[in-house]
Amino acid sequence: NPRIGILALQGDVREHHRMLAECDATPVSVRRPEELLAVDALVVPGGESTTMFKLAAAFDLLEPLRKQVAAGMPTFGTCAGMIMLADHLRDGVEGQQTIGGIDMTVRRNAFGRQVDSFEADVSLDRIDARADAPPFHAVFIRAPWVEGVGESAEVIARIASGPAAGRIVAVRQGDLLATAFHPEIAGDTRIHRYFVELVKGA
Ligand code: GLN
Repeated sequence: NPRIGILALQGDVREHHRMLAECDATPVSVRRPEELLAVDALVVPGGESTTMFKLAAAFDLLEPLRKQVAAGMPTFGTCAGMIMLADHLRDGVEGQQTIGGIDMTVRRNAFGRQVDSFEADVSLDRIDARADAPPFHAVFIRAPWVEGVGESAEVIARIASGPAAGRIVAVRQGDLLATAFHPEIAGDTRIHRYFVELVKGA
């Protein structure tokens, strides 16, 4: 089983542990550069990207994270983790930096105060190609959206209807994957399995 690190500075680390263990991977918490070098892949959890950035900088993890991601380590970010993987950030706090890696522009807290949290079904054609594949029931919590992606990034999912219809909420670029929602708390393992398969093939 691949050893998949979970960046454990802040956020819903435990939920990702549970999901990865269910998907035939060995989850390992990562808080130090040595721990980062000992895993095959990484998950950046949901939480608060401003805090995660500050802690990563304080723990001397930001540069090692950038290096590993740039060197091709498969990495999956959810919500705050998606923000961390964005090359371009809008509505970050003063001085907020990301790890980067995916050529996309992400807007923090994009869905606004009126709809802090909501659930929506998203279609996952690129991840589950079965003709009868059910939609993925996605949970959004003060989520970002993706305003645009560069040529090397592939859009995996968009909001289907409502005022935010068409907004991009899942992206893949090579072995990097990011979702604006939280598949770790939905009980549907398809996206985590997809990532574990991607890690095995890397
Ligand atoms: N709003 C948070 C941020 O800016 C993300 C929320 C989440 O991860 N659920 O990082």
